[in-house]
Amino acid sequence: MHIQDIFARDPTTFSFEFFPPKTERGAELLFDTIKQLDRLSPSFVDVTYGAGGSTRDLTHDLVLRIHRESKTTSIPHLTTICHSRTEIEEILSRYAAEGIGNILALRGDPPRDAQNWDRTKDEFKNATDLVKFIKTFNDSGMHPDSRGFGIGVAGFPEGHPDTPNRLEEMDNLKRKIDAGTDYIITQLFFENRDFYDFRERCELAGITIPILAGLMPITSIVGMKRMANLAAGARFPSALIRAVDRCQDDDEAVKRIGIHWATQQCLQLLEHDVRGVHFYTLNHSDATRQIYETLALEHVAQRSG
Ligand code: FAD
Repeated sequence: MHIQDIFARDPTTFSFEFFPPKTERGAELLFDTIKQLDRLSPSFVDVTYGAGGSTRDLTHDLVLRIHRESKTTSIPHLTTICHSRTEIEEILSRYAAEGIGNILALRGDPPRDAQNWDRTKDEFKNATDLVKFIKTFNDSGMHPDSRGFGIGVAGFPEGHPDTPNRLEEMDNLKRKIDAGTDYIITQLFFENRDFYDFRERCELAGITIPILAGLMPITSIVGMKRMANLAAGARFPSALIRAVDRCQDDDEAVKRIGIHWATQQCLQLLEHDVRGVHFYTLNHSDATRQIYETLALEHVAQRSG
């Protein structure tokens, strides 16, 4: 389903992010998780892409499997770094032929084995270039939906480390939106006021498309450290760090704290008319299901029509 139709149907969207496992067994386990979360009727789910193409087929195959076997719309991420224009066009053509309706368009960071990658070699310098390219692809009529792919991009409530100048960052975000973006998913954050402020700054910049708030319930210290590494710009508040530190050796307690924190964040976001909540699931269903249950989100998610 095209993202514009999803926004027309769901007054508040709830979506879940997965990453493609590298083994057959991992893929089967993930599919069990997806089936469990499918019962919550998410607005859509999305699948990450290993920058540089390291998960090219894994992402593709998982997106397709969800598309065929589940009732939920599946959206692939696509990063441009280390990819040529021809490669990106091939990937888009394949998704279009298979009826995938949307793309989350990203630049990505150099993969671990190409940390010194010379970015001047990249044909796409940033995600704006990718959005423009997808727009041209859409205009060429190669997608079965006459609107072409729906396009999402990333936003960074606390700023992206590549742009220390926050005013310039909003100008860049505005360019990315004006190139033809339909919605923004934010980087995960743990302080809602960072999100509210970002949303207001977007409004001041004339950005009016839906902004979905990225939440990651912490379920383990290992997961928290992993995310701190991956999530550019995300700040861990002292109250959260103190609470987690107090129960270093008690995994269950860490998980309870993480889920409680995310539940409170979600409740407050709904109070503040968030357009959508995007859960970074790290391929597990527990935390998201508990937040759904505690807040009775199935009632919030009631659809029109
Ligand atoms: P951009 O929007 O291109 O931003 C990167 C830099 O370019 C910024 O400094 C920006 O200000 C600047 N810029 C943007 N447009 C312009 C312009 N028109 N002119 C000048 N400068 C410009 N990474 C992965 O590898 N795989 C994933 O699947 C993945 N999924 C993600 C999903 C979400 C929701 C988020 C928030 C991040 C995700 N990331 C993923 C991480 C992301 O790719 C990195 O944070 C990366 O450093 C920036 O990507 P971007 O798309 O925001 O880049």
